[in-house]
Amino acid sequence: MSDMYVPVNEPLIGDEEKRLVADCVESGWISSAGKYIEQFEREFAEYCECREGVSTTSGTTAIHLALKAVGVGPGDEVIVPAFTMAGSVYPIVQCGARPVFVDSELDTCNMRFDEIVRRTTPRTKAILVVHLYGHPVDMDPVMEFAADRNIVVIEDAAEAHGALYKGRKAGGIGHVGCFSFYGNKIVTTGEGGMVVTNDERIAALARQLKDLAHGEKRFTHVLPEAFNYRMTNIQAAIGLGQLRRIESTVARKIEAASRYTERLSDIRWLILPKTESWARNVYWMYGVRTSDDSPVDKDQLIGELGKVGVATRSFFYPQNRQPAFNCYNDSDCPNAEKLSDTGFYLPSGQTLTDRQIDYVAGKVHEIFDRWS
Ligand SMILES: *Cc1c(COP(=O)(O)O)cnc(C)c1O
Repeated sequence: MSDMYVPVNEPLIGDEEKRLVADCVESGWISSAGKYIEQFEREFAEYCECREGVSTTSGTTAIHLALKAVGVGPGDEVIVPAFTMAGSVYPIVQCGARPVFVDSELDTCNMRFDEIVRRTTPRTKAILVVHLYGHPVDMDPVMEFAADRNIVVIEDAAEAHGALYKGRKAGGIGHVGCFSFYGNKIVTTGEGGMVVTNDERIAALARQLKDLAHGEKRFTHVLPEAFNYRMTNIQAAIGLGQLRRIESTVARKIEAASRYTERLSDIRWLILPKTESWARNVYWMYGVRTSDDSPVDKDQLIGELGKVGVATRSFFYPQNRQPAFNCYNDSDCPNAEKLSDTGFYLPSGQTLTDRQIDYVAGKVHEIFDRWS
């Protein structure tokens, strides 16, 4: 029926990445020693306006390291949005702490500040703020609230490389920031992650935890618990190449999003992403929702688009509803469920062309025309 296939996401690997990777392979520096690790950590931290960067194997392990390094443990509660992916939640459980799920705003998909306040208890050790789909959370109220109560703020910026909150980089605002470099993220290393912070103590502890807690003397180990979360030099080389053109990547994502918005805004049953005045939304994914009175529901749209070669993804399924975390499901999150029931994202990869955007938008129009 259709010869066009538009993938939901595709990484863009440039010449700089190829050149740096070839250097690793040819020089033999393929493991976790090698100059690109330190260079990538330094340049990425600088990009986030942070003093320290600690590379790791994934976003999930970055969050685990951050939680451990700030001392989250058994008996503690960590506030986290229900509307996120499981990589934000498992590390909390791995620390022996309790995830406390809060609901989200329908507009930005981000966690609600009033819900953070409502769910805080004397046991709240940390708030894990998640910047969803590239839109930063309103950080000032969270930071102020946390400071008054000695609560640590950790940012999960896995979807928000380069996003700005009042001019400041997402991930560089809280006490610790965590990034993922999975294949579909704005900066990728294939698999990988990074912890950034201005707190040298936290960085030093994270460094120790990620590498079997080596003491000063070789083969002495100084912590009762530690991990091997070491990134390889090859991954760091890819990351460096990616990082050096992040501003053009972000500019293209914003441009692609505005093209979608231009072409879809006349469909009254489609709710398009909103951006707050204080934010630079980097549109990791261009997420849309169907309205309550839409003649077509989300699953029908996803199905119909699939038939004409347009790959999409459903929004996350709320974490409080997961079989894995059901024992922590002690408060309803109606907005998270609504987002999950009505939301999905359109193709948003870095190779997406204007022609593909126009094709996708045209197909969305056709479906609504047919069903309404
Ligand atoms: C991708 C992602 C993670 C996990 O990152 P991995 O590198 O896949 O472990 C965590 N949180 C959010 C919000 C993510 O999008």
